[in-house]
Amino acid sequence: MSEKNSDYYIKKFAHLRIDRSHGRPAPHKPILLLTIIELIERGVISKNEIELTPDVVSTFLSYWNTLYPDQKGIVALPFFHLKSDGFWYLLPNAGYEKSFNLIRHIKSSYQIRDMVKHAYLDSELFNLLLLDKNRTLFRRLIIDNYFEYDERKKLVQTINLCRDAMKYEHMLIAEASVPYNAKKPKIKIRFREKVREVGFRHVIMSIYNYTCSVCNMRILTLEGASVVDAAHIIPFSVFANDDIRNGIALCKLHHWSFDEGLISIDDNYRVIVTPLISSQRPTEWLLTDLMNKQIMLPQNETLYPAQEALHYHRENKFIR
Ligand SMILES: [Zn+2]
Repeated sequence: MSEKNSDYYIKKFAHLRIDRSHGRPAPHKPILLLTIIELIERGVISKNEIELTPDVVSTFLSYWNTLYPDQKGIVALPFFHLKSDGFWYLLPNAGYEKSFNLIRHIKSSYQIRDMVKHAYLDSELFNLLLLDKNRTLFRRLIIDNYFEYDERKKLVQTINLCRDAMKYEHMLIAEASVPYNAKKPKIKIRFREKVREVGFRHVIMSIYNYTCSVCNMRILTLEGASVVDAAHIIPFSVFANDDIRNGIALCKLHHWSFDEGLISIDDNYRVIVTPLISSQRPTEWLLTDLMNKQIMLPQNETLYPAQEALHYHRENKFIR
């Protein structure tokens, strides 16, 4: 048996077992591999246990939707079928060990979640992918082998966007170690708007674990949609401040209510609700019930929403 070095995996990656019945190679497996490479680069996947997490789904879809905006990308398909390529394995959940090998087709990500604890790569391959030069090599190979000219350009743009967003994210994390100053964000805005959006969202979602700080709702469809937004406490348009401590994770309803000034947060991190909304009107309980509720805060106290930002929101946005 040949040694499992980078040449071995170059051959494997160049000859993926891919459905070609639709006239061209199905892009699912190559896009999943690009996804895994990116998440290893970002440090989101740091050990050789790859679960079908929101990060995997949303990264897969960011590639997929760039290329095929009109087609639904189903990450479950390559997550399951990549096991036929000899370097990707699935560890079944307890109770599924026997039935697992009988399954030939997979319909949804929910099915994967039920049956599979996690996927893992050959340890030799995982170790290779920890190195930047190998990631570049394998990415190039995948893009050149499985995509047409126009698609290659779009994929490279997406990879560059993610790389810039990662740099921005790291700068935001570094910035959060110095005292907060709403009016003087340390980072000059030399990043494109899209890069800032993606970077700010990544960092807030990872700190709040895709959970609304106000109501603790955490709905994530396995198709990658999240009910939770990365919201600014002082709107970005005011001081151009993406400081993590000017950010908070809020579901769609509470993001809207917060931006409209119907709710705010006091200096003990409790929700306050505008007197415009009355608990006498039964339909408004969704907001009035939140009064005095303690919000969910990041584990790391230094990343809590800044008092200065909350004060600004109460004074300038909240309807008293
Ligand atoms: Zn909420």
